[in-house]
Amino acid sequence: MNDCGECNICCTILKVKGVTKAKETCGNLCESGCSIYENRPDACSHFKCAYLTSNWKEEFRPDKSGIMVAGFKKEISVYRLKDDINKSLFNLIEKASNKTKVIGYDCRNL
Ligand code: SF4
Ligand code: SF4
Repeated sequence: MNDCGECNICCTILKVKGVTKAKETCGNLCESGCSIYENRPDACSHFKCAYLTSNWKEEFRPDKSGIMVAGFKKEISVYRLKDDINKSLFNLIEKASNKTKVIGYDCRNL
C-alpha cells in the first residue's frame, strides 16, 4: 500500500459533508497538510483513492499524474485534474473499464 506523501488532492476536489463542497479546497488544509488531522471527519479518514490502496508507482500519485481514481470495484470515479495527464495511468484505467463502469469528472477548471 502507498502513502499520500505531499499529495492533498482529495482535500481540494471532494465534498466532505459539513466541511467542504465539491471542487473547493478545504479550509482546514494548510501548508503542512490537514490542520485538524487527529480530529478530521470520518469521511476524510476513511477515504482512500486507488493510488493509496495500490502499489502503483509514485508517478501515478494524483498530484503527479493529474488523475485521481476513487473506487476500483464495481464503479470507478476518475477525476481528471489537468490537461497534461499521465497517459500510462489513463491506459490502465481504460483496461479496467472493460469490466467496470467508469464515471469521469473533469476538474481542470479548478
Ligand atoms: S488523493 Fe489519494 S494520495 Fe492524494 S491525499 Fe487523497 S488519498 Fe492521499
Ligand atoms: S478536514 Fe482535513 S483531511 Fe478532511 S478535507 Fe479538510 S484538510 Fe482534508
